[in-house]
Amino acid sequence: MKDDILKSPENKAVIVFATENENKMVEIREILKEAVGRVYSLKELGLKATAEENGSTFSENAEIKAREIAEKLKSDKRFEGMYPIVMADDSGLCIDFLGGAPGVYSARWLGHDTPYEEKNRVILEKLEGVEEKDRGAAFVCAICAVLPDGRALHTEGRMTGRIAYEAKGENGFGYDPIFFLPEYGKTSSEISGEEKNRISHRGRAIKEMARSLKEYL
Ligand code: IMP
Repeated sequence: MKDDILKSPENKAVIVFATENENKMVEIREILKEAVGRVYSLKELGLKATAEENGSTFSENAEIKAREIAEKLKSDKRFEGMYPIVMADDSGLCIDFLGGAPGVYSARWLGHDTPYEEKNRVILEKLEGVEEKDRGAAFVCAICAVLPDGRALHTEGRMTGRIAYEAKGENGFGYDPIFFLPEYGKTSSEISGEEKNRISHRGRAIKEMARSLKEYL
């Protein structure tokens, strides 16, 4: 790591986003760079998140992740005298008919390594015969930013839709093939990545966080 990596040019805030997911980083950088400054990934800083995500809400889990990395930066000699903002997200799919499941368990539901073809097949099976009006669902994303003074800012974004009758589409990941967007008449796996970023839960939560941080800075 370069010594000056966390020294901000142009006096903008320096943000560390606690994710190992490079796809998320592309979207996050795009939205946050103009508004608040440079965003570094854990990989760039040689850090790893290891905290157990045992919160009962998306916000709690996002804060657990952000605080873990903020603590690591505080006790790391390489970061002495630097005051980065640490952000983390947590997201998942909430299905009305299943009482909000898989929710915060979305990644672990039916087993972490179970292929999504299988997870999606089980969901479609559970909703077999369920009418359209009862198939409501939402992708939810919570973002937490831990500020240098220890305060936490929280935002949440949602993308609402319903569970499709069959899996369709090649784009996206995870539960996208079974998430139907009525306004498009397509699943979130059938729309382009660009279009999805525009309307996604994550995109909305990040934009909201960019606004909150602008007020803070
Ligand atoms: P995390 O926020 O990276 O922990 O993701 C939680 C899990 O929620 C993912 O592994 C997916 O199962 C699901 N998920 C979150 N966002 C999306 C999305 O945009 N499309 C499909 N699945 C998603």
